[in-house]
Amino acid sequence: MGNIFINFIIEADWGSLEIADIIIVLLIVLFVFSLFTIIIRTVFRVIQAFLGFFIPEEDEVITEENSEDITSSPKKQFKPFRKKPLIYWGADLPYKLNKSLLTDRESEFFKILEPIVNKYGFRVKSKVRMADVINLTLDESQKNYWKYFKEISQKHFDFCICDPISLAPVMIIELDDKSHESEKAKKSDRIKNIICNHIGLKLLRITLIDAIHIEKHFVSKFKIPCTNCGGIYMIRTNSKTDELFGGCSNFQETKCNAPTISMDEVKLRIAQLA
Ligand SMILES: [Zn+2]
Repeated sequence: MGNIFINFIIEADWGSLEIADIIIVLLIVLFVFSLFTIIIRTVFRVIQAFLGFFIPEEDEVITEENSEDITSSPKKQFKPFRKKPLIYWGADLPYKLNKSLLTDRESEFFKILEPIVNKYGFRVKSKVRMADVINLTLDESQKNYWKYFKEISQKHFDFCICDPISLAPVMIIELDDKSHESEKAKKSDRIKNIICNHIGLKLLRITLIDAIHIEKHFVSKFKIPCTNCGGIYMIRTNSKTDELFGGCSNFQETKCNAPTISMDEVKLRIAQLA
């Protein structure tokens, strides 16, 4: 068959061809090409079905979510060697629901942290992505945008203290443990420290889960100024009554005699500063 066709082309007296002959030749070429395409497509379909690559499109499987629009979905287009999707309706997926957003240690910390933060009029948000707290000063089209974005897009802050209404970030609290001793964690911590310092966002690192310890450090981050000496107020414990109070950090060093302030006054001053 092939030889006859080739001989016909070689031996044909092309000089004396009529237009009708040329049309017939073109039609034969078109027919052979179409036949060839159909054969190739069929072979692809068989191979795909055989290798299990023939996964239905998501909208072809009737589920509760798409049962209404299944009839209007356009006919699936055949794509040779379409990659098998990782996630599709009915797939056996290696996922399960977490018991909590927090680990056990974070949970223990959160139970103590939340009432303290609420007392001073703020709210705690857990596991906040850095890129949701921090924005870039560069435009996407500008050089190095993606390089800097990458540094904040996949890292999370353990806890973000926010204004209760506007959710404006006020302070970051990181609960550090032994996992922070690895080189990778140290690098990540250093990046967080540098960035928070650069944008003027308070960052508190806590290792000891203790209510008094946490409250003292939380309050000290607001740097309530002493009007007497320019130092800052620290939270101290009255050794006789065990009550907390605010006192100037220079009380011992320079004998600043600024009066101590009650925790209600501390709360007021923080509200004025935040
Ligand atoms: Zn002072």
